Amino acid sequence: MTLEHGNVMTADPEARRRFKRSLLHWYRQNRRDLPWHQDQDPYRIWLSEVMLQQTRVAAVTEYYARFLKKFPSLEKLASAREASVLALWSGLGYYRRARMLHKAARIVVREHAGKFPNTAEYLRHLPGIGRYTAAAIASIAFDEPIAVVDGNVERVLQRLLGQSIDGEELWSSAEALLNRQHPGDHNQAMMELGATVCLPRQPLCLHCPVSAWCLTRGEVQSPGTSIRQMKREVRYALSSRKGSVFLVKRGKKVSLMPGFWELPEVSVATPRAKPWLTLRHSITVTNYTVQVIRRRPSPGADGTWVQSSRLSGLPLTGLARKILNAAGLI
Ligand code: SF4
Repeated sequence: MTLEHGNVMTADPEARRRFKRSLLHWYRQNRRDLPWHQDQDPYRIWLSEVMLQQTRVAAVTEYYARFLKKFPSLEKLASAREASVLALWSGLGYYRRARMLHKAARIVVREHAGKFPNTAEYLRHLPGIGRYTAAAIASIAFDEPIAVVDGNVERVLQRLLGQSIDGEELWSSAEALLNRQHPGDHNQAMMELGATVCLPRQPLCLHCPVSAWCLTRGEVQSPGTSIRQMKREVRYALSSRKGSVFLVKRGKKVSLMPGFWELPEVSVATPRAKPWLTLRHSITVTNYTVQVIRRRPSPGADGTWVQSSRLSGLPLTGLARKILNAAGLI
């Protein structure tokens, strides 16, 4: 294929129209069959956008369905206890997202009579809704002509334009290319293109609907920064008796996951007992080797015996959930 239209930013209006049509047509034919892709309900779109922040699509779909089953509407979410919301979020990570979601649902019900604000500007006043999420909800649910920029869109734009642009320049380039008649589908098309075709390592340019307008066809890679992963070893004690398990609750003031339940941690300096289970767990830049030791709680140890039947309704840390699953307790 030859470069028919050159730089799409400086192309004539008809060439830009063809670019937008081509992208939209491709998206409507090829979008993945994801539960939130055909939805215009602001609550559902908001939930999917929040869940997808920092989490892979494959991990989100199951959580999304379970969450909507329990909280099918904004009102149901607003009237729920925070612990129930966190329990359903347990394992998805970045729990601040769930707290903000819950807080924002309460504000929408209390201050907007349950009606979602319908512009990006107003949406940004809600807790946990930043520039990207506000633009995504406003364009997809309310057809507001406003562009989004996420990591996928950033990569597509940089390759299309052959420049390593960032910040406001990215947002204004996305805005300049926006299909103002179909902003929601256009934004989703740009994100979908980045997620499925214009891949970070090996873009599938032969399948790209806009390759005729692309100045790089993937030849220019944006300089990648490799993040050094750290390694840590941790040990936890698993004590169970008569259908109960011994857990500790994190304090309200700790910075990470306050109020969440977990297994008591055992110092790695204590004499090594044969682990009942060894598993790997990663949190951001740290890879943990986790050893689980079966033993009784020491006399006077902080913690509570919790009935196994209550576990699924408790906000558990992702790691605790993993271990309790492996032990067949949930
Ligand atoms: S032609 Fe290749 S590099 Fe350019 S936007 Fe399409 S997939 Fe990305």
